[in-house]
Amino acid sequence: MTFKELGLADFLLKAVAKKGYTEPSPIQVKAIPLILERKDVLASAQTGTGKTAGFTLPMLQILARGEQRRKKPVRALIMTPTRELAAQILVNVKEYSEFTDIRSTVVFGGVNANPQIRTLRNGVDILVATPGRLLDLHGQGVFSLNSVEIFVLDEADRMLDMGFARDLNKIMDLLPTRRQNLLFSATFSKEIRKLANKTLHNPVSIEVAPENSTAEMIVQKAFRVDKPKKTELIIKMISEGNWKQVLVFTRTKHGANKLTKKMIAKNISAAAIHGNKSQGARTKALAGFKKGDIRILVATDIAARGLDIPLLPHVINFELPNIPADYVHRIGRTGRAGASGEAISLVSIDEVEYLRDIEKLLGQKMKMEIMEGFEPTETEADIVKKKPNNHRRNPRSGGSSNKRKFHRGSGGGRRS
Ligand code: AMP
Repeated sequence: MTFKELGLADFLLKAVAKKGYTEPSPIQVKAIPLILERKDVLASAQTGTGKTAGFTLPMLQILARGEQRRKKPVRALIMTPTRELAAQILVNVKEYSEFTDIRSTVVFGGVNANPQIRTLRNGVDILVATPGRLLDLHGQGVFSLNSVEIFVLDEADRMLDMGFARDLNKIMDLLPTRRQNLLFSATFSKEIRKLANKTLHNPVSIEVAPENSTAEMIVQKAFRVDKPKKTELIIKMISEGNWKQVLVFTRTKHGANKLTKKMIAKNISAAAIHGNKSQGARTKALAGFKKGDIRILVATDIAARGLDIPLLPHVINFELPNIPADYVHRIGRTGRAGASGEAISLVSIDEVEYLRDIEKLLGQKMKMEIMEGFEPTETEADIVKKKPNNHRRNPRSGGSSNKRKFHRGSGGGRRS
């Protein structure tokens, strides 16, 4: 299958060739013709599958049609949960629209709004946005959403995890009822299906990988290790493997900072990326990591969401996520676009239960390995003794019964 056979116009074929894509990815093969037919689409696809081009290319083709388009305000709205993802989508939109005069911009919080307002006032065809800033600027009357023809909800599962459900409802109320809707999500919970029912009209469902499964190209390994020995083990793995580009996940911002400091103390260049870092610091860390100046990027789940890092060879879960779907998202950072990758999890005794939840979601067991010199000795009792308020199995700590509440609250805990 070629991009031309999918029905894309020459100005898009030129842009795709310039990007060096030789053939469309599976999601593109499925999504592009449907979108061109103006169907609503419900797509199950993770980052790394080429889904951005999958919705952007046909969107550009649709928007390029039509005579009076210059007079109209925002004609396509792409909602994404995080700033980084929004910024990356805009980069892609600009690349794919190089050979048209379609105008696009991005708005997200954490940076000065004035340049965003100026660009919007000049009029744009495609607006990429995170929910908070979008509502804020719309409330100031900077732009109208009355003429939106195509509405894209990207990473819908993460939107809900981050507590954006109410904002999304408000945004949808601002859109005209007659519009084309495209919803992308890596996982499909009951809540996502509910959101899809509300948003989409007679959607066609497409899927590129089995639901909630991990890409086959990813080799997954789990090491049992005592919590206090994790830092030593990760440094040994990175040093002995001479790994150059490693994305490491921690559960907390504090944990990310602590680990980054320890890496730097061992002369391993590292940077942390999480919600307490300024937008400038995050952009700088990501750029340094992509260029190879920074070997280790330590990230929390939210901050890492949607990062476009092609061909990432190693992802390490320094701590396992307590939401199993987050594991799927995390390891989706490796083995991208046909390249193989390795996802390693360091599992302390208190995380064994998280691992079981993950295995249940994946429908597969993971083999637990033990590194020589790092044989675990901790018992569950040791952990409970040390951290009575943090332990998930301690009923008084509110552990397991609270685990989803934290993530689905009204937006406090997980905004990046
Ligand atoms: P996405 O899933 O949209 O985040 O895309 C993941 C990566 O795949 C990005 O770096 C894209 O530039 C790249 N990509 C998208 N489509 C193709 C394609 N047809 N061939 C090769 N790479 C692609």
